[in-house]
Amino acid sequence: MKGIHLLAVEAPRAGLPAAAGASATVPLLLLDEVAAALARVFHVSCHVRAESLDAGFAFDRARNQYLSTAILQRLQALPCPEGARLLGITGLDLYVPVLTFVFGEAQLAGHCALVSLHRLREEFYGLPESNDLLHERLTKEAVHELGHTFGLRHCDDWYCVMASTHAVERLDVKSAGFCPGCRRRIAAAAPALVLS
Ligand SMILES: [Zn+2]
Ligand SMILES: [Zn+2]
Repeated sequence: MKGIHLLAVEAPRAGLPAAAGASATVPLLLLDEVAAALARVFHVSCHVRAESLDAGFAFDRARNQYLSTAILQRLQALPCPEGARLLGITGLDLYVPVLTFVFGEAQLAGHCALVSLHRLREEFYGLPESNDLLHERLTKEAVHELGHTFGLRHCDDWYCVMASTHAVERLDVKSAGFCPGCRRRIAAAAPALVLS
């Protein structure tokens, strides 16, 4: 893998109610922190792109959420250097039709991934804000979705970052690292990669 590009995926500037995520801007500091964390995990350079993607096309008025798959497809159409990954990070609430929500989505063995911090915030559950917890959860989610881009599927090890998680409680149980089995699978898919 030749680097990770991070791109903020934002709510449309106008034309939608505030509840649809107009206040869900991704803090630049958080993007920088996650880029630094990913650089430590994958030992590659991480670059936060200056531009952002307007996700208005993916908004579903009835659900008041954004269709994750549509955003992922749009990310795939953006230019990205050969061998690099493009990771979209959004504050918007994502869904796929069969699920109430998703924390993120990725192209299996592709180059694009998407994560949402909307449901990773303690405030979403009526608890006091915690930047440390948000940063930790977002890093785990980003590593997980990037793992899918190496062809990894979900792992039965609860502590492995590739464990499937549909609730923040389970997300908090697992580590930000890959279990030995998943490390072997990544090594087979990307021999040049050095994992921390
Ligand atoms: Zn997954
Ligand atoms: Zn694993």
